[in-house]
Amino acid sequence: MSNSYSGQLVPYACDDKKSQGRRYDEPHPTYRNEYQRDRDRIIHSAAFRRLEYKTQVFVNHEGDLFRTRLTHSLEVAQIARSIARELRLHEDLSEAIALAHDLGHTPFGHAGQTALNNCMKGLGGFEHNLQSLRVIDKLEQKYADFDGLNLTFETREGILKHCSVTNAKELGDVGERFINKTQPSLEAQLTDYSDETAYNNHDIDDGIRYGLITITDLLKVELFSEQYDIVNNRYPGLDDKKLLHEIIRRMINVMVVDLIDTSRENIANAKLNSISDVRNQKHAIMSFSTEMNDKKLELKQFLRKNLYQHYRVHRMTKKAANVIDSLFEAFLEDPNILPTEAIQHCNILKERNGDKGLARGIADYIAGMTDRYAIIEYERIFNPRQLSFANFNA
Ligand code: MG
Repeated sequence: MSNSYSGQLVPYACDDKKSQGRRYDEPHPTYRNEYQRDRDRIIHSAAFRRLEYKTQVFVNHEGDLFRTRLTHSLEVAQIARSIARELRLHEDLSEAIALAHDLGHTPFGHAGQTALNNCMKGLGGFEHNLQSLRVIDKLEQKYADFDGLNLTFETREGILKHCSVTNAKELGDVGERFINKTQPSLEAQLTDYSDETAYNNHDIDDGIRYGLITITDLLKVELFSEQYDIVNNRYPGLDDKKLLHEIIRRMINVMVVDLIDTSRENIANAKLNSISDVRNQKHAIMSFSTEMNDKKLELKQFLRKNLYQHYRVHRMTKKAANVIDSLFEAFLEDPNILPTEAIQHCNILKERNGDKGLARGIADYIAGMTDRYAIIEYERIFNPRQLSFANFNA
């Protein structure tokens, strides 16, 4: 197998030559390692393309400047690769996990997830992390030999960040660590931190552009004000756009440097020699220093109070929840209005699992929608003007 990283890795990294394998055996790729193939399959998936039109906090069509789940995933991959390379962990694996980590997200970000989870109450619930795994294990239907993308255990493990013990019991190998309380690979751990580092910082950027928070408000947050002082001293009178970028890039940098330095110390203290040493730790090895962790918590609290709970975000949340609730109810009440492919999928699940199966099929269909597709679908079903013959095909 070419392009193996094996020789350059620390002994406790995930080694592409010693992967725990795929759910369905396949010949090794010719010129790529196993995790490169995972990454490539993710990039070529339909769910990945749809990330372009899905958002986290803001609705997709609100403006072209805001992050989408696609640009977010690329930022996470960039941060994760830097950390993995520095710690001589498997860069390709971290990249694959980063690019796939949000594939299961509903339209309309957190609002959509909460709404769909409420719709699925008593019917198995809805959790975006589990859904990401469902997308790559089952819902992508394009390979002749198997459902899903047939990714390696290590990529699948990294995608499933959290999971209840009840759900874990249904998941086989990737569920085991939630039952046995063991740790995932360092590549999975570092990608999780990269996710958090990316969104905490880009939400500041988007929040300011959107006019929900201001630089002055953020001066109350230590992590921000420290970098503000450095930039302001060096470049007095800088315009706001450049000022903000210079602050945010430094914030990402100090967080990443802290994470690498602290984790390196943790690795030395734990005397890691193998991947099983990583898995058998009581706590995750990757971590921020206590000081950085406190600062990060302060930032998160600020964002929760001032950005995520801003009334304008709440209004979007309310509207998004209405769209999701209405679609779910309408489909559940009369599955015959579902498009052909979706109803076929629902019928298969219904045969296996009755009403719960039907509801799961509907949740799969809704979760797969982009923000704009969900709005169009809502219009098609509920707007009486769409009754005209011109819209018959919609
Ligand atoms: Mg994310």
